[in-house]
Amino acid sequence: MSTNLLMQFAQAIATKTIRVIDLTQTLEPTTPILPLPPEFGQSWPFKIEEISRYDDRGPAWYWNNFSCGEHTGTHFDAPIHWVSGKDHAHNATDTIAVDQFIAPACVIDVVQEVKDNPDFLLTQKHVEAWEQEHGRIPEGSWVLMRTDWSKRKGAKDYLNMDEGGSHVPGPHADLVQFLVRERNVIGWGGESVGTDAGQAFTSTPPFPCHCIMHGANRFGLASLTNLDQLPATGAVLITPPLKIVNGSGSPCRVLALVSSAT
Ligand code: MN
Repeated sequence: MSTNLLMQFAQAIATKTIRVIDLTQTLEPTTPILPLPPEFGQSWPFKIEEISRYDDRGPAWYWNNFSCGEHTGTHFDAPIHWVSGKDHAHNATDTIAVDQFIAPACVIDVVQEVKDNPDFLLTQKHVEAWEQEHGRIPEGSWVLMRTDWSKRKGAKDYLNMDEGGSHVPGPHADLVQFLVRERNVIGWGGESVGTDAGQAFTSTPPFPCHCIMHGANRFGLASLTNLDQLPATGAVLITPPLKIVNGSGSPCRVLALVSSAT
């Protein structure tokens, strides 16, 4: 690669020929957390505490302590997160090869389908119809499901729980198999609290996106936003998680590069 190519890239960013779109939700104490049944360990919500703010505690500086679970807000799922992915080499946030954190994305718009059916599952049939229009999903791509779910404000609407559990859309188990085996994708991303559908505990296997994607050493992105600003194809995502030792995931500032010169 010539140095020139990178300089052209920097120039394209500076002139906004390539736009940078933030796919990240702001981390705050109200960021919804998925509550698990009480017999399981629970993830900490995001907590932020001021250390000092140009005052007696630190006259010239402002900073905070924060704490949260690894899977809080917009975040990256590493293969080690799931039991099916536990034995892969380089499967944690600190060991995944860093070039894996830059990859193209295909965006599948199912806003209409989800409007009438919060339990909507994306199937291979939907994806094949999408491919008829936009071309085959390139190997190594993220597949992002645009639902506009991130426009739901507040934990109640976002988690959408009732006595039967959570009702949020996700991928069908058969589709996850197809994307891994037939399309060799790098991972799956969505706008809700996790990568799987709310009712995914009833699937075979349970939580197919976690089980199959991580079982195949692939990744996940959850709680994305601004997917409505992405083209169906051609965006490139930048998704580096924090380098937590043996981390199963981490909050992530997910950025998309989109060319305006099409
Ligand atoms: Mn997660």
